[in-house]
Amino acid sequence: MFTSQPRAGGFPQILLVEDSQTTAALVGNYLSGSYRILHAKDGAEAWELLTRNAAIELVITDIQMPHMTGHQLLVKIRKSDEGRLRNLPVIVMTTADDNVDRNLAFLNGANDFITKPIDELELQARVNMHYKLARTIRELEESRRQLAEQAMTDPLTKLRNRRAFFDNGNKALARARRYSGDLSVMLLDIDFFKKINDTHGHQAGDEALVAVANILQSLARTEDMVARMGGEEFAMLLPDTNLLGTAVLAERARVAIEKERFILGGKIVPITVSLGIAARSADPADTIDQLLNIADKRLYLAKQNGRNRICVNDEGKSSFAS
Ligand code: GH3
Ligand code: MG
Ligand code: MG
Ligand code: MG
Repeated sequence: MFTSQPRAGGFPQILLVEDSQTTAALVGNYLSGSYRILHAKDGAEAWELLTRNAAIELVITDIQMPHMTGHQLLVKIRKSDEGRLRNLPVIVMTTADDNVDRNLAFLNGANDFITKPIDELELQARVNMHYKLARTIRELEESRRQLAEQAMTDPLTKLRNRRAFFDNGNKALARARRYSGDLSVMLLDIDFFKKINDTHGHQAGDEALVAVANILQSLARTEDMVARMGGEEFAMLLPDTNLLGTAVLAERARVAIEKERFILGGKIVPITVSLGIAARSADPADTIDQLLNIADKRLYLAKQNGRNRICVNDEGKSSFAS
């Protein structure tokens, strides 16, 4: 028999839906060595419990019951808005000669069936198998989600990385095109970063990167994306923002960093940055790559013009004021 160790929360929970007290007691008895059995007397009561208790990991249901039948319950579960319920393993109990009910249950999304009178070992085997399968699928999905998240995240600053920026940027550009909206990018590079590393050490350099990342993140709206593009270069993707709005944000970022008292390796280290910006409405671009290249040229101009400044156009201007 399958013996799962009671975990911190106790045995895994199974919902048994059965109007016959005798059958319910029997099934409960067969499974109580490895599972905690919750009992509902009909589909309606079962649905109540399922929506309230997210810890239920498997359902065993009778078919013929008052108020709401097993079929109706199954349809409700499979049509739920919640993935947790849609993916719940459901085993139906049918009578041996009733293949109509059984087939209907399968059509409605049942994972398995067991015939009455219930055989103890068969019940345990089917329940254990579906319980383990559902667990394994959940674990696989969770690790896939974590891997996808990792592939998009810069480990040092926890910002999105270059890949995420282009991924998201191209989607944002397609959206902007479809709805005739604007989309801007802001590219930022720390000034003389090599010198920070050389003077204060690589560890202090890393601390500076994290601190700058946090400042940029604090300036972002929820729709914006902040990414570390590599080295000491950061980018922001700004939906529904024009060149003027982006210039305001870029200048705000520049001033915030210039004024910040960065404490690196125990010492106050002044940091400045240079920025280049571009907007779809002002700088026609077919891809996010092109838009970023325009911002990059302006970033280069900002460096040439003395650093610690923003550049908003190809003439190297640092503002729109005339
Ligand atoms: P500029 O004002 O022209 O941008 O000068 P800079 O010194 O910032 O530019 P440069 O590209 O010459 O130097 C970038 C430095 O960033 C060199 C590299 O060692 C350092 N760097 C890149 N990635 C990291 C990192 O993850 N951590 C640390 N501490 N340093 C990094
Ligand atoms: Mg019944
Ligand atoms: Mg630099
Ligand atoms: Mg650089």
